[in-house]
Amino acid sequence: MRIIFLAALAVSLWLPMAWAQSAEQELQAVYRWKQHDLNRPVPPVIMPGTASTQNEAGKPPSDAVVLFDGKDLSRWESESGGPAKWKVANGYMEVVKGIGNIRTREDFGDCQLHVEWAAPLPAVGESQERGNSGVFLMGKYEIQVLDSYHNRTYADGQAAAVYGQYPPLVNASRPPGQWQTYDIIFHGPRFASGKLQRPARITVLHNGVLVQDNVALTGPTAHGTRPPYEPGPDRLPLGLQDHGNPVRFRNIWIRELPE
Ligand code: MG
Repeated sequence: MRIIFLAALAVSLWLPMAWAQSAEQELQAVYRWKQHDLNRPVPPVIMPGTASTQNEAGKPPSDAVVLFDGKDLSRWESESGGPAKWKVANGYMEVVKGIGNIRTREDFGDCQLHVEWAAPLPAVGESQERGNSGVFLMGKYEIQVLDSYHNRTYADGQAAAVYGQYPPLVNASRPPGQWQTYDIIFHGPRFASGKLQRPARITVLHNGVLVQDNVALTGPTAHGTRPPYEPGPDRLPLGLQDHGNPVRFRNIWIRELPE
């Protein structure tokens, strides 16, 4: 009895201390500088880009890495190696069934990512078979691409879901054939001495609407299971999924975030 009491006392004293410490750590970035300090470095100046319309892709911000500008797949490769052999035409790329997933040649970790996609018109198939593709952060964590316009499926598998983990807060889907946007803010997991230090976190705006609000991921994406994290690098290629449906993509750009 006494041992249980002492253990409970230790935990109740330790927890608030641990929390206080992490809150303090989080605020340190502010308190490093005096308020209104004129010596504090000012942020770099960039050109903010323009929004897309249904007919025309917008311009990326000037400091973004442009992964696809509608012309070629030179920054992409097949997931199994070799060139990315998806179709490129009229300013978009299109999944070619059976070619397989593609991924960036470069590695990316914490980032802001902009992706535009359109589900096939006319709509073919039901549930997960209609306009299915996906954006795979670090090749592991999928934001689902699906034609979720009047197409019922399981909640954690519809458009803008963190597949198998979090349904979107709302269904902000546009009809098939129309261009839709994902704006994703991603922080990858961190490991220390082979142990998970912090989980991956994702914020997603679908067509400008907040649908994932800084959610903590349970681990990599899988179908029918939620596998745990495995320690790995902080940066890996970004992937797009071939799920057998001719989904189109355009105007893909990424901005790496500070650690
Ligand atoms: Mg998918």
